[in-house]
Amino acid sequence: MKIEIRNLNMIYSNGNHALKDIDLEIGTGMFGLLGPNGAGKSSLMRILVTLMKPTSGVVLADGRDIQTIRKEYRSLLGYLPQDFRFFTSLKTWEFLDYSGSLAGLRNRKLRIAEVDRLLDQVGLLEVRDRQANRLSGGMKRRLGIAQALIGNPGIIVVDEPTTGLDPDERIRFRNILSELSQNDVTIILSTHIVGDISSTCQTMTLLNRGEVVFSGSPENLVKKAEGHVFRLTLSQQEYDMAKEKYNVISTIPVDGGWEVQIVSDDPPPFSHTAIIPNIEHSYVYYMEHKLKAELT
Ligand code: ADP
Repeated sequence: MKIEIRNLNMIYSNGNHALKDIDLEIGTGMFGLLGPNGAGKSSLMRILVTLMKPTSGVVLADGRDIQTIRKEYRSLLGYLPQDFRFFTSLKTWEFLDYSGSLAGLRNRKLRIAEVDRLLDQVGLLEVRDRQANRLSGGMKRRLGIAQALIGNPGIIVVDEPTTGLDPDERIRFRNILSELSQNDVTIILSTHIVGDISSTCQTMTLLNRGEVVFSGSPENLVKKAEGHVFRLTLSQQEYDMAKEKYNVISTIPVDGGWEVQIVSDDPPPFSHTAIIPNIEHSYVYYMEHKLKAELT
C-alpha cells in the first residue's frame, strides 16, 4: 500500500504546532520515522492510524483520503501503539484469538491456525498457554506485534516499539520487523532510538520540531557525515578544551587521557583519525551539529 502525506499540519488547541507542512511518500517495505522526543512522531502516528484528524492537509492510501475511507482503511491497518497494554486474564493464544475475531476472522478453525502461525513467527508458541499478562515485557511487545499482524494488514504502524526492551529483546524485535518487511506490506516504524532504524529500514525520515529535515535511505544519511567524524586521543587538558568546542559522541578513558569521537565540519586541531561514520554518528552530526548551525 502506498501512503502519501500531503501538506499536513497539526496544531493542538493550546497552539502547539506539532506538525508543519509535512509531505512524505511511503511505499512498501520498512519506513523509519526518527526524531527526538517532542519532534512530532506520535502526532503523525495518531493521524496515520485515524485516531486524530490533522488541522489541515491529507493522508492518501493508494490515492484515497484515509478520512473518507476510514472504516475500510482501518480494516487494512495493523497498529502497535506505544503504550500497548492489556488487562486480561486470557491466555496468550486466547488474546490473539480475540484480536483475530475483532479483525474479522470469522472461521474459528482458520483463525486458530493463524494464531499459532503468528505465535510461531514472533517466537511465542511455547508460551501460548501462559496467561498473557504474565509474559515478560519483551514477550508482551511481541504479542503486540502479533495482534497488529492478525488479519493480514497491508499497512502496519509501530510506535516506539523497542523503548524499555533489553538488548536481546530489541534485536529480536527488529529481526521480526525485518522479516515482515520482505513481504508486500508497508511498515511504518516510529522511534527515537537510532539503532532501530539502521538495520531494518529501506527509507527513513528525520523529524525535528514538527518538520521533515531529512528523507532518504539510511545510507544517504550516513554519507552526509563522511569526513566529519574523528577519533582523537587527548590529554585531560585537551579533552576539556575539545568538549567545549565539539559534539562529543563517545568518551573512553585511556592511559593518562581520553579517547573520544567527535563530529566536526573540519578536522580538529588535535592528533586525529577520520573514521567511517555509522548511522548514530550521522544522526548526531546532522541533528546536533548541522541543523543547529543552520538554525543559528
Ligand atoms: P514525539 O512523539 O516525537 O515525542 P509528539 O507528537 O508527542 O512528539 O509531540 C509533538 C509536540 O506536540 C510536542 O511539543 C508536544 O508537547 C505537543 N503535543 C503532543 N500532544 C499534545 C496534545 N494533546 N496537546 C497539546 N500539545 C501536544
